Amino acid sequence: MPIDVKVSEDTSVTFNGWASTGTPNLKPFSYHPRPIGPKDVEIEITHCGICGSDIHTITGGWGELKNGPCIPGHEIVGKIVEAGNKSHHKVGDLVGVGAMVDACGECNQCKSDNDQFCTKKCFTYNDTFKDGRGGQSYGGYADRVRVNSDFVFKIPSEISAAEAAPLLCAGVTTYTPLKIHKAGPGKTVGVIGIGGLGHLAIQWAHALKCDEVVAVSTSDNKREESKKLGATKFINSKKPEDMKAAAGSIDLLICTSFATDTDWAKVLSLVATHGKLVLLALPEDPLQIPANSLISRNVSIAGSLIGGKETVQEMLEFAAKHNIRPWIEKRPMSDPNAAVKHMMDGRPRYRIVMETEAASRL
Ligand SMILES: [Zn+2]
Ligand SMILES: [Zn+2]
Repeated sequence: MPIDVKVSEDTSVTFNGWASTGTPNLKPFSYHPRPIGPKDVEIEITHCGICGSDIHTITGGWGELKNGPCIPGHEIVGKIVEAGNKSHHKVGDLVGVGAMVDACGECNQCKSDNDQFCTKKCFTYNDTFKDGRGGQSYGGYADRVRVNSDFVFKIPSEISAAEAAPLLCAGVTTYTPLKIHKAGPGKTVGVIGIGGLGHLAIQWAHALKCDEVVAVSTSDNKREESKKLGATKFINSKKPEDMKAAAGSIDLLICTSFATDTDWAKVLSLVATHGKLVLLALPEDPLQIPANSLISRNVSIAGSLIGGKETVQEMLEFAAKHNIRPWIEKRPMSDPNAAVKHMMDGRPRYRIVMETEAASRL
């Protein structure tokens, strides 16, 4: 166990969840949370989405688990049942937690709503706190969670608890690059991969009034659904005539999925001169990018990691105002392995949200 994992436990309470020890098979796991601090809240979890990151983590695709058993889940929604006297929320509030649960709050990154790049950040699971109180983070495949209320977001009343869950990671992951790279009137935005991330990216781009919203997929089966989501054009990337017709037309191309044999020269051929390809999906292997695809037309490649906490709240309000919702399939959290399996081989349309027994009391 890393040296900075000091024991910091409130032994008077036990939280019960589902943990991985490096395989996709989740087993019941209980832990004592950190003592509740003045800014902390305790949340009774009603819903937790399943994110691709959960799968990469619990299967070991992103490397070994850092601190032993890992309770995944960073699309958490629930009700506050206890609140420290300096917390931003009160008992009874319906709130959400995304991919982060702590950061220093004082560095330049934190002060510019880029807390996901703070060197003292703590991700929601498989991470250790660096705030001097010790302990490690456990995610939302559980009955409860205790977190710093700086990283807890109010769910707008227009959005249901279940639908709010995927917004907390998939939502902000797709909203942030569109905001940073100024998607809007005058721009053509493309979205590669119509899945958990992509179906939200299309909705944001449509609501932001981009000139064209281009869905890029490897088959025709998502053509009609893409239109329903707000896409104005559809490219089947396996059809050379589709790719040729769209060459150089996309100012901002958001890549939410890839295959191990993705031909990046072909992907980059879609990007307009001075345009950008933004990577959201994180392949487990390095990418092979032909430099000429970038140099010949001043194309750049950028990455984007979730979003700052102010952006998360802004995204939730934007979703409420523009009626943007994830398309979800609900599954009981009492059988997370079935839900994870469905995610791993079923490609749900488009996001799985697990529901706890507490959801019936909302
Ligand atoms: Zn995620
Ligand atoms: Zn910081």
